[in-house]
Amino acid sequence: MSSHFETALSVIVVSIVMFIASLLFQDKKGDKPARIAFRIFYFSTVVFFVVISANLESSTPLFDFLSDVCIAVTCAALTIGILWRCHSKISTTIIYILAMIYFVIDSSITTYSVQIAYSYNVICSLISVYALMNRKQGSNVGDKGMAIVILINTVLLLVNLASFSQIIDNQFYAEFTVTLFIFTPAYLAGLTIFLFSSYMLDAHKELEIQATTDPLTELYNRRFFLSESKRILQIAERQKKPLCVMMCDIDFFKKVNDTYGHKIGDKVIKAFADVLSQSLRGGDILARYGGEEFVAILAQTSKEKAIAVVERMREQTEDLLIETEKGVIKLTASFGLCEVQGYCDIEVAINQADKAMYEAKSAGRNLVKPYESAII
Ligand code: GH3
Ligand code: MG
Ligand code: MG
Repeated sequence: MSSHFETALSVIVVSIVMFIASLLFQDKKGDKPARIAFRIFYFSTVVFFVVISANLESSTPLFDFLSDVCIAVTCAALTIGILWRCHSKISTTIIYILAMIYFVIDSSITTYSVQIAYSYNVICSLISVYALMNRKQGSNVGDKGMAIVILINTVLLLVNLASFSQIIDNQFYAEFTVTLFIFTPAYLAGLTIFLFSSYMLDAHKELEIQATTDPLTELYNRRFFLSESKRILQIAERQKKPLCVMMCDIDFFKKVNDTYGHKIGDKVIKAFADVLSQSLRGGDILARYGGEEFVAILAQTSKEKAIAVVERMREQTEDLLIETEKGVIKLTASFGLCEVQGYCDIEVAINQADKAMYEAKSAGRNLVKPYESAII
């Protein structure tokens, strides 16, 4: 068995294993099926190296044609998979056109076949690296690792291209062609490890978001608020800075549900949540505490300042016009505030803010009420 043949066999085995690994890739709901493109990439890599092995024995026009098809498909599939995963601005049409141009040129010109194939591969690789480094949802460690693996392979391709074009002497070229194939299993394995990590990291991030946020309002949920507020209270205690806890609840919300239905009720809750979040600053946290009840921590804020901030929220809520298919809805909400200075259990502070909010309800609603004495 020649060393070329052994190398090709090794690439085939690794590609099959990586193809099996790619069956575990899961794209996010609503995303384009990048996993399918990656499976095509692994599959066509297998076919390409089978064709190459056969071509080593006896070169025929059919094998040449098949290897051109495989190169066009392999590079395009990997790049399209990456573009879809990264939600890239670069249109996949460019890749289809590039693949077609490559195929037409390479099947009509025989002399520079290898140079054309490598140039096409380099262009696709650079597009992939750009997309991976500029991922819309932020590039994770897996994406960056993939970009590095593709870049290393691109450098090898460029050196190879230089050898073929006789920029580097022929002896080197002869040895380097073999060397490049030897790197292929490492390239495929490296690519797959980072791609797999990228999918895993995305899934982990998604689970974290689901565990900490409320799906309707996209605000934090009660559980996350309680754990995060403990940390904020400890910082405030250490810095000896006051903070305020705010509780609020939409007035007569049952009427909205009864008159317009639950779906429109949800829309009203979301619109109210947006008003609240727009009024808060970076260090503050806001969460949906229950149905149409919200809680916030206004960090480094005294009672007087908090009253002004929350009064603005109340006014903005009053001015809000929520357009629905059953007409425009207006609403008001009642707010309770509690100032915390020094050590305090978050549950106690929430309780006091809740009491202040119910005072606002009893006093006629659409009001901001502070709890009379600060917790010290
Ligand atoms: P009050 O001014 O005293 O607050 O009167 P209210 O009618 O707003 O009374 P309350 O706050 O007790 O009403 C809560 C209602 O919110 C009851 C429940 O049906 C509704 N609700 C709770 N969660 C949701 C939700 O996710 N979507 C919708 N549409 N309604 C909800
Ligand atoms: Mg209510
Ligand atoms: Mg309520």
